[in-house]
Amino acid sequence: MPADVSALQVALPLPLPRLFDYRSPEGVAATPALAGCRVRVPFGPRELVGVVAGVAAPAGDGAAGGMPELREALACLDAEPLLRGELFDSLRWLARYTHAPLGEVLATALPASLRRGEPLPDTHAWAWRLTEAGATSLPGLRAGSRPRRLAELLHEAARDEDALDGLMDDWRAAARALAKRALAERIAIPASQLAPAPQPGPEPNDEQAEAIATLRDTEGFAALLLDGVTGSGKTEVYLQAIADCLARGRQALVLVPEIGLTPQLLSRFRARLGVPVHATHSGLNDGERARTWAAALRGEARVVVGTRSAVFTPLPEAGLIVIDEEHDGSYKQQDGIRYHARDFALVRGKALGVPVLLGSATPSLESLHNARAGRYAHLRLSRRAGEAKPPRVRVLDVRKRPLDAGLSAELLDAAGKALDAGGQVLVFKNRRGYAPVLLCHDCGWSAQCRRCSTPLQGTPMTVHAGGRRLQCHHCGARQPVPLACPDCASLALQPQGIGTERIEELLAQRFNAVPVLRIDRGSTRGKDALGKHLDAFGARAGVLIGTQMLAKGHDLPNLTLVCVVGIDEGLFSADFRAGEKLAQLLIQVAGRAGRADKPGEVLLQTHHPGHPLLQTLIAGGYHAFAEEELAQREAAGFPPFAHLALLRAEAKHADAPMQFLQAAKNLLLPFAAARERLASRAAPDDAQPSPDNSRETLLELHGPLSAPMPRRAGMHRAQLLVSAANRRALHGALDAVVPALHALPDARKVRWSLDVDPVDLY
Ligand code: ADP
Ligand code: ZN
Ligand code: ZN
Repeated sequence: MPADVSALQVALPLPLPRLFDYRSPEGVAATPALAGCRVRVPFGPRELVGVVAGVAAPAGDGAAGGMPELREALACLDAEPLLRGELFDSLRWLARYTHAPLGEVLATALPASLRRGEPLPDTHAWAWRLTEAGATSLPGLRAGSRPRRLAELLHEAARDEDALDGLMDDWRAAARALAKRALAERIAIPASQLAPAPQPGPEPNDEQAEAIATLRDTEGFAALLLDGVTGSGKTEVYLQAIADCLARGRQALVLVPEIGLTPQLLSRFRARLGVPVHATHSGLNDGERARTWAAALRGEARVVVGTRSAVFTPLPEAGLIVIDEEHDGSYKQQDGIRYHARDFALVRGKALGVPVLLGSATPSLESLHNARAGRYAHLRLSRRAGEAKPPRVRVLDVRKRPLDAGLSAELLDAAGKALDAGGQVLVFKNRRGYAPVLLCHDCGWSAQCRRCSTPLQGTPMTVHAGGRRLQCHHCGARQPVPLACPDCASLALQPQGIGTERIEELLAQRFNAVPVLRIDRGSTRGKDALGKHLDAFGARAGVLIGTQMLAKGHDLPNLTLVCVVGIDEGLFSADFRAGEKLAQLLIQVAGRAGRADKPGEVLLQTHHPGHPLLQTLIAGGYHAFAEEELAQREAAGFPPFAHLALLRAEAKHADAPMQFLQAAKNLLLPFAAARERLASRAAPDDAQPSPDNSRETLLELHGPLSAPMPRRAGMHRAQLLVSAANRRALHGALDAVVPALHALPDARKVRWSLDVDPVDLY
């Protein structure tokens, strides 16, 4: 076929399950070499930036006379493909797996500035050196002046700008002065030249050494679960594995949870590895993120550390992928393209032929299941490294005990003792528990969010700002606290349930000789605000109060007592993952106590001291809990023993979501195991379902039902849960049905999304 009848098939960032054909821009031949290049195209009255997915004869009849009906792309934005090789292939896989349009997947994967069509940024670093004229006229510069001092520094050696920052204050003005007289010049150098000398780490213990050796012996793809208690030295294993990877001349990618990417962690990596470590996370601006991406694409970035979206980093010379805290919920994207960074990292590791190291003190049940099935190597670190001892855990039974701001007298005593001994105390409040809701003591009225409530199910607003403001945690709506009850006019309005603010009030009164610091999302906006707060707090005796944000991240070496309150509701949640999440949280937060030379203690305050989850966790640890939980999941047919997809819909109009989901269900029914039909087949002559119609390959449809939170920010919400024992069966059905979903007339009346492997069933 002659080149001029070929069309570019362009993936555009639109919620439509197809590619769009365009003619090649003027003067650019439509050859397959354009695949992976960005193009700017007209779309209706707009212009969009898309990625060429392929080149082919246009859809429809592109026969005689070429392609009169095709519009022409305006410009090709890349001289060579931006997306190529493994990354492009893996992203195509991701589009198929999430049943999402390729254009939307690519838009999610590319840094924002590249998505907008900006050029791939420069990635080199800058250095300064003396010119020849500078070297000869150095003695003539006024002794002691800044230009003279800088010229002397540069005379010893050309210096990069980072190094100059450390050598001389305000060197830039001096540099400009020298440059003006052509005595010094600024030169671009590859970023990889900026290499601090690596510092040695501690001698690995036996278990660490074994894990490191296993990785060293791994060739090609393998998944390895590094299952090590908190403080057992997992990070040391990562560092050694990365050093080995660098020594082989390969790149390493390290994924860390949102809260785990602290300046502490980055400086530990930088100091130990002796190469520049590129970071990428949501705190960076678009330009910085694009530079990291480009540096990785050019092979200049040898180590990239980042949060969820770092999984889209190009790795042309890949050698290793590390996923720290692999169980962490922040790896799952909860809107747009709902990918799981851990799972996608495994797909990429396989395609790249490199090992993937998954580390956690509380591995996800999915990963433990894979390890038990032999799909993952299981590496254990069973002891804390160095001197630190595991913390002692005690359950405080608070049934019928008086509580003050939700805290028992025993807990307060223990806190007082720990402070007297010069230690730090963390009071950890589980967020999934009760919130301080405004309640009328006379009639029972409580404040509900108008935008998130239905007549049958209210969503309470919680009390903030020292009792002056009500706020909805789901949509952010705010309003002042009413003076009197809107229903009965009583003045007896009281906050019920204990928030961290009330705990702070009580502790600040009771322990007024030490600092009391409350950490929550409100108090930690901005770049590394959490780290700055904690640095200011220091290592002196004091009390920290917080929620999930404090469960990990920043090191607190002087923390000797951890008190956990508000766990009871998590013990009785309808979400099948609630137990797993609570167990992980308890172990993680307990692991914060006594990390250095001081022994730690953990107090769990509960009204349900006999609950099996607590009993098992305390007697047998996380693994005993995980064994029991896996057995229950298997019996109930839940993940990892089944595969789920959740179809969600929301609309302003109350009926629209259910109508859309019912229409979707009708499309899925041919693939579903109708329970009644299977039951009626119990008759012996009818008991032989054909192979592709067996229970194994059939779907189960649950719903449509209103969502656990049926209203949110003014929208009515419903969902249809699809489950299958067999992953291929699930995807086969979705492959067939999803394009038809887009075409449903009801689809235009709702906002809908498909979540494959949902983590939260909300
Ligand atoms: P994890 O990542 O499992 O929480 P780290 O790697 O951060 O653990 O190690 C916890 C602490 O123990 C750190 O201060 C680290 O320097 C120290 N450490 C790790 N491995 C060793 C070792 N083999 N010998 C002495 N100290 C170690
Ligand atoms: Zn009232
Ligand atoms: Zn609301």
